Amino acid sequence: MENLLANQVALVTGASSGIGYGVAKSLAKAGAAVVLNYHSHPESAEQLADEIQQHGGSAFAVQADVSDPSQVEKMFAACRSRFESVDIVVANSGLQKDSAFADMSLEDWQTVLATNLTGQFLTAQSAVREFRRRGHRGNSNALGKIICMSSVHEVIPWGGHVNYAASKGGIQMFMKSLAQEVAPERIRVNSIAPGAIRTPINKDAWDTETALKKLLQLIPYGRVGEAEDIGNAAVWLASDESDYVVGTTLFVDGGMTLYPGFADNG
Ligand code: NAD
Repeated sequence: MENLLANQVALVTGASSGIGYGVAKSLAKAGAAVVLNYHSHPESAEQLADEIQQHGGSAFAVQADVSDPSQVEKMFAACRSRFESVDIVVANSGLQKDSAFADMSLEDWQTVLATNLTGQFLTAQSAVREFRRRGHRGNSNALGKIICMSSVHEVIPWGGHVNYAASKGGIQMFMKSLAQEVAPERIRVNSIAPGAIRTPINKDAWDTETALKKLLQLIPYGRVGEAEDIGNAAVWLASDESDYVVGTTLFVDGGMTLYPGFADNG
């Protein structure tokens, strides 16, 4: 997949950790210049930017809270001033604040929706405005590409995580409605829905033998996913190889959405 994204610029939100970090790395490997957004800890995003540069690529890290409109605008302004524009936007930032429904605080409900849903709204809105402002750059069939980081929980209900599941269910119709609206301008909007990927967000689910065994019962393919699995999917969705893919959720989940509980007659 080397050079599949040459002469293109990619912005990845939440690139300081986990899936965002892995996606940024994969996009850079495919030849894109990469803007790595981080929320509060610059170290790993800056270290990855250095690593990409040492390998002959282009990258820099930029701070922004994706739930804050003015910070999102500044993040896009930084893309313009450093790389002229942006071609690929991966709205990846997300978090969990889990609790039983009756105990869930309004603050935890709002924080999750603000980052996971409003954050993607603000990021995608700035992306669409930027694609329109600069017009076709001749480096891709599309005017621009937006990838929303969803989750298997856009379709699998998740007790104890009502705020998170509601945010990802929201992403499903957000992505599809936006894709329908902007496709005539040749802006491609799609989602990736990861299953269980080994990152800090779900450490409790895989870092002990007992937890891992329980988790693997939900994954027909028999292994936990890695950030690179999502990175590979993102490269494809961002490239012209997927030029006719519009408004689709790509599940990258080792079969988690195949309802493995029914494999043995239910
Ligand atoms: P993670 O905790 O490692 O990374 C989340 C990233 O989002 C971090 O870089 C964090 O700084 C950033 N972030 C949080 N709030 C932010 C804000 N307000 N502004 C900017 N950045 C912010 O977790 P991850 O697993 O890498 O999650 C990345 C995305 O993938 C999330 O949207 C998550 O819902 C989704 N996802 C993860 C899994 C999984 O199994 N790990 C499965 C399905 C979906």
